[in-house]
Amino acid sequence: MAATVLKFTPTLNFKDKGVVPHVNSKFHFYGGTQIDNTNATLSCSSSIKWKTRTNQFKPVCVAALNSSSELNSHTFDVVIIGAGIIGLTIARQFLLGSNLSVAVVDAAAPCAGATGAGQGYIWKIHRNPGSEHWELAMRSHQLWKALAESIKNQGLDPMQTLGWKETGSLLVARTANECSVLKSRVEQLLEAGLEASFLSYDDLLSEEPDLMVGREGGAAFVPDDRQIDARRTVAFIEKANRCFAPEGRYTEFYYEQATSLLRSESSGEVVAVQTSKNTLYGKKAIIVAAGCWSGSVLHDLTKHSEIELDFPVKPRKGHLLVIENFKSINLNHGLMELGYVNHKSATLSSTSSDSGSGYNAHTSSISMTATMDMSGRLVLGSSRQLVGFNTEIDESIITQIWERAGEFFPILKQVSVKELSKSREVRVGLRPYMPDGKPVIGHVPGISNMFLAAGHEGEGLTLALGTAELIANMVLGNPQKVDPTSYSIVGPRMVTCLRAGPLFHLRGILLLLV
Ligand SMILES: Cc1cc2nc3c(=O)[nH]c(=O)nc-3n(C[C@H](O)[C@H](O)[C@H](O)COP(=O)(O)OP(=O)(O)OC[C@H]3O[C@@H](n4cnc5c(N)ncnc54)[C@H](O)[C@@H]3O)c2cc1C
Repeated sequence: MAATVLKFTPTLNFKDKGVVPHVNSKFHFYGGTQIDNTNATLSCSSSIKWKTRTNQFKPVCVAALNSSSELNSHTFDVVIIGAGIIGLTIARQFLLGSNLSVAVVDAAAPCAGATGAGQGYIWKIHRNPGSEHWELAMRSHQLWKALAESIKNQGLDPMQTLGWKETGSLLVARTANECSVLKSRVEQLLEAGLEASFLSYDDLLSEEPDLMVGREGGAAFVPDDRQIDARRTVAFIEKANRCFAPEGRYTEFYYEQATSLLRSESSGEVVAVQTSKNTLYGKKAIIVAAGCWSGSVLHDLTKHSEIELDFPVKPRKGHLLVIENFKSINLNHGLMELGYVNHKSATLSSTSSDSGSGYNAHTSSISMTATMDMSGRLVLGSSRQLVGFNTEIDESIITQIWERAGEFFPILKQVSVKELSKSREVRVGLRPYMPDGKPVIGHVPGISNMFLAAGHEGEGLTLALGTAELIANMVLGNPQKVDPTSYSIVGPRMVTCLRAGPLFHLRGILLLLV
């Protein structure tokens, strides 16, 4: 096959010690996949920015395939870059919904990215009915419930396999003003057909005796919300995917960084992914699902061509504090403070006047989230920081998470964060953050067989099954259950980008790529 190589290694350097999740006796540190990627930090405020370089267009050609890469070449229908929750559920969707063969390639292993740090709520309570994510979130929720049901029907326990807990969720308020916000949210959720109610102080106390919100406080309650354990779920999906390995339909290439893409000179399509050890041909589709690293993968794809494809996904660092055998409080539901809604949705253009909360997306922010996992461990979150690809534990953030939780559970104030050192685990992950708040799920413009599924920020676990369904339906040409328009790279998001540059640049790009 005549192919050219588009290198995308130089700005994507995994630091060796960080590739494997770092584990020690005191805590497990997930999200250790460290990539020096400062060059890929992009300033574009919209989703995808196409740029042309100033010199004349030249053919996209960097190197020819050599004989050693031919020796290690394997052919699949679909090759997926990234084995986080998004990549693995996309693989699952193809395996269950078609007869295509699938390869998944990851620079590390599945829980090395954001997925291994995820708290696991699959919630609707913090969403606005009718908002852009609503339809995809509802579909994903439905698919998660169907998966749990099918596990039950096989005689297995979804709690053991997925960490599935049917606890419902509480969105908690501490002031009269916040309570009126929650009351109107409950009205909206009811109008959208969900089961929801407002709990006054006394009602809330009987649901969660350890939670102290004060007489003016209350909570919105959605009994149908669920939670999973991200690592158990990933293990379950991997195991299910591997059932297709004996028939040659599923192969994993872990600890193999995707280093370049091979592109057909005749069709312009990307035909293969070059990893550090193998050349993986993808006959039908190549899908980039590399979380917050997807930007550099795409950016470097066009590094040696006359165009640049800038995908402005950024790493948004998050810490979670997980405490073993903590008997001081018990939780009957998953909890989140109302402030989380602003904290999550703040964008790069935010200022400290956001919602009057004093929140600034450039600085750290903490809001209380609390769940109990299937093993009875207390999981407290969460922080958000835009500090690049750093995954070091920041002890000051852990202290702030603990103190914030103490505002809601005063009994925690009796224990200092230092006293937890022997029973705690800290999880750090890099959420794939999109400046416009929406994941990208769709075609890479101009390359018909290449797709992107990334940018899910703090909702990748929730939205994974719906995302996988969308991508598989696009590749297979099946009708969609959810309108994918607002997640596409073209359409309104592309128009925003085009305004930034002269039209002849667009024409040049299309001529080059089509
Ligand atoms: C603290 C925290 C709490 C969270 N809580 C929740 C929650 O409760 N509910 C929820 O829905 N979401 C939650 N999230 C968000 C969720 O975890 C993410 O949205 C989701 O995991 C993103 O999945 P992903 O597959 O896109 O990325 P990742 O899991 O980051 O996977 C990307 C993969 O790509 C690989 N990769 C990168 N570059 C290359 C390359 N060149 N070649 C090969 N492989 C490569 C990486 O090794 C990695 O394994 C939370 C996140 C954090 C950090």
